[in-house]
Amino acid sequence: MEELLEQLLEECRPYTRSGRLAAYIPELANADMGDFGAYILSSDGRSACAGDYNKCFTIQSIVKPILLLLALMDNGEEVVRSKVGVEATGKPFDAINVSDQALLSEHINPMVNMGAIAMCNLIKGDDYNDKFNRLLSLTRELACNPNIELNESVYRSEKMTGNKNRALAFMLKTYGMLTDEVEDVLDLYFKACSISVSSKDLAHIGFVLSNRGKVAGTYKRIFNHEYAHYVNAILMTCGMYDGSGDFAVRVGVPAKSGVGGGIMAVVPTRMGIGIYSPGLDDKGNSIAGIKLLEKLSKRLYLSIF
Ligand code: GLN
Repeated sequence: MEELLEQLLEECRPYTRSGRLAAYIPELANADMGDFGAYILSSDGRSACAGDYNKCFTIQSIVKPILLLLALMDNGEEVVRSKVGVEATGKPFDAINVSDQALLSEHINPMVNMGAIAMCNLIKGDDYNDKFNRLLSLTRELACNPNIELNESVYRSEKMTGNKNRALAFMLKTYGMLTDEVEDVLDLYFKACSISVSSKDLAHIGFVLSNRGKVAGTYKRIFNHEYAHYVNAILMTCGMYDGSGDFAVRVGVPAKSGVGGGIMAVVPTRMGIGIYSPGLDDKGNSIAGIKLLEKLSKRLYLSIF
């Protein structure tokens, strides 16, 4: 499998030169477009790595399924479902509802910014520091990596410039969908997006979702198997934002992208895949990352359809 991954990564390397960095978060403009890495962890115990698989980048929106998981673990499915919907929006991740209609929970889902900000409000903890520490612990546990940390400079960069997210949070507040203070909730959201991970970490996290809550190589269960169904279903329909339909046709597995350049793919019962290449398309998805997944899907028959 490793030879195949290395070969496909080299075939896709030319695509790393297309696309753009997510410069709207100034610190992300410092990424190196030439970095390209991938890691696969499979249920038969094998793993494969290629390129810069240990290179760290910020998790960005790939934290959204982890926020959703923690919200589910803290509140149960019924409460989470009543607060934020599960339908694809077909709109960009930071779309703002500008119609005269009231914002309703079914207008958003946990994979777009508004839904993820609403998830931050649902996470339990003594205060917002404690809530972030609980999220960081869960991320470390899912990735089997106790060394995962916050990238302070990306966090500060996002907090200083994240006015669109402020607007989204105030919309939520206006329509009664945030009970806590906007800046507290946003601070958790910005920190969550600034957690530093590698492709290897993403493969491990994706693996637990593919394995319905159990860590690779052990019988340790981190979350209820029903939450994996919930999260994976939403990843399938909304994980690549308004590119989710195209991704379903080309790759056909639940996945989540982030503007840091990462993609986490979940192949139910079979494998977790993590990829990093920071050149993004106009929807904020890694171009070389999707290309590599498309090729892997064809060669390993990964599509669930
Ligand atoms: N932190 C980013 C934002 O809120 C996450 C977006 C993304 O990765 N698509 O804009």
